[in-house]
Amino acid sequence: MSLQTLSGHDRGQWKAAAATARKRIETRLFIDGRFVDAAKGGRFTTINPANGEPLAEMSAGTAEDIDRAVTAARRAFKAGCWSRIAPRQRMEILYRFAALVDQHAESLAVLETLDMGKPIADVVAADLPGVVDTIRFMSECIDKIEGAVTNTEAGVMHMVLREPYGVVGAISPWNYPLLMATWKIAPALAAGNTVVLKPAEQAPMSCLRLAELFVEAGGPPGVFNVVNGLGEEAGRALALHDDVRKITFTGSTAVGKLILQYAGQSNMKQVALECGGKTPQVFLADVADFDRAVTAAYRGIFSNMGEVCNAGSRLLVDRSIKDRFVERFIELGRDAFAPGDPLDPATNMGPLISREDQKRVLGMIDKGHKEGAKLEFGGGAPDGLKDGAYVNPTLFTGVKNDMTIARQEIFGPVASVIEFDGVDEAIAIANDTVYGLAAGVWTRDLDTAFKLVRGIEAGVIWINSFDEGDMTQPFGGYKQSGNARDKCFDSFKSYTQTKSAWFRLS
Ligand code: NAD
Repeated sequence: MSLQTLSGHDRGQWKAAAATARKRIETRLFIDGRFVDAAKGGRFTTINPANGEPLAEMSAGTAEDIDRAVTAARRAFKAGCWSRIAPRQRMEILYRFAALVDQHAESLAVLETLDMGKPIADVVAADLPGVVDTIRFMSECIDKIEGAVTNTEAGVMHMVLREPYGVVGAISPWNYPLLMATWKIAPALAAGNTVVLKPAEQAPMSCLRLAELFVEAGGPPGVFNVVNGLGEEAGRALALHDDVRKITFTGSTAVGKLILQYAGQSNMKQVALECGGKTPQVFLADVADFDRAVTAAYRGIFSNMGEVCNAGSRLLVDRSIKDRFVERFIELGRDAFAPGDPLDPATNMGPLISREDQKRVLGMIDKGHKEGAKLEFGGGAPDGLKDGAYVNPTLFTGVKNDMTIARQEIFGPVASVIEFDGVDEAIAIANDTVYGLAAGVWTRDLDTAFKLVRGIEAGVIWINSFDEGDMTQPFGGYKQSGNARDKCFDSFKSYTQTKSAWFRLS
């Protein structure tokens, strides 16, 4: 059932689709074009965070399975069945792959919601269209890439070629399981590499289906492999593997730092990192459309339960408009997101990923209190949803940028209002963080906007908007938010390396 038809599904239809999908959950690893059990037979349980029920016992890949998958990927790369076929042929397979994702959107969507707790409406409106767009965009890049013949002295011809790396290892997070994986695998595959993907163990189900659809689209066996398993075991083994030529990672900054170490301890593979954030949204006194700005503020932190790398968790508000801003935020934002059953298409807020995360986020809220911030609303778990890992949308005011809730990535629906006086102080507070993923700026003055754009150290800045974009937008961070860019033509190019061929002519 394609994406277009799904927007009309009601709760009953989604419940029925989920019941069907549950009976067909694939738990094995996908290596060399087929499903196989983990070599050591280990398993881990994946849990539905909306009700705490176990969903499946997934095969837990270990270093042995990673090695099997990398060997298959290396063999496929060397065979040239993917890396050396005509660019348009590769393009056609990837187009078919995108079409199959669209065609199987219903089953992919329910897997995502069951496993991660994401509202089904969001999967259908944002995640899956994003997956399809990403595969299509990266396919379109395939025959747009060019090398160069440079200007040289007579008697020399110098060509610069672009070639894939070989085996790319991809490690992805759980907050957008399919989309974050696709931001890695689509450009890597389009550029002619072969891939071993290690999805997050908290939401491991949907990526297996993705790999299966790739083969159904005509992708040769061994080109796209998926090894589920724990991070410290399977993820570590992938990042340490000597035949992996590039490792591309999305996840926390702490694990990103480990990935750099693993590359250094092994074969000095290329490392692309997309890590955490503590995004500031800056609201100047002259903001043009107050309600639109406030709406962007609460949506920017409450969407996807705040489990977003670029969640606008720090709301930097000009002191002169702070009272009005908070008042309007409470009026518009307090009830805008209501925790509920994520399989109900009317729900816009699901549970957090796990009970542990719920405990961690509630602990952060507690810290906010203890360090002197003022709780305006939220701050606990909702009544009536005790079996799930839910946290209510929460607003703190009176936050100082040195408080824990302003410094650490909460990864939950917790907004902090921090006051500032003047643009220079706003820039200083915005930059007073180890992160630099994204920022929002709200002002009607072009000069002020440009000063903030220049002054804020972040890879993505939205002006009078937030969290918008399309596939042309480079997405990635400054500082400890990472060193790479997803989406965009540059992302595609980053899965290739240049080769200089200097011909001395006789
Ligand atoms: P995480 O770092 O805990 O895990 C990410 C992945 O790394 C998982 O697949 C995990 O199994 C694996 N992993 C864990 N330990 C490992 C190890 N020692 N060696 C190798 N792999 C290991 O992150 P998470 O909790 O899954 O995701 C949330 C984090 O991801 C947040 O910090 C968020 O900001 C970040 N994120 C960033 C972006 C971005 O584009 N910058 C996008 C989404 C999420």
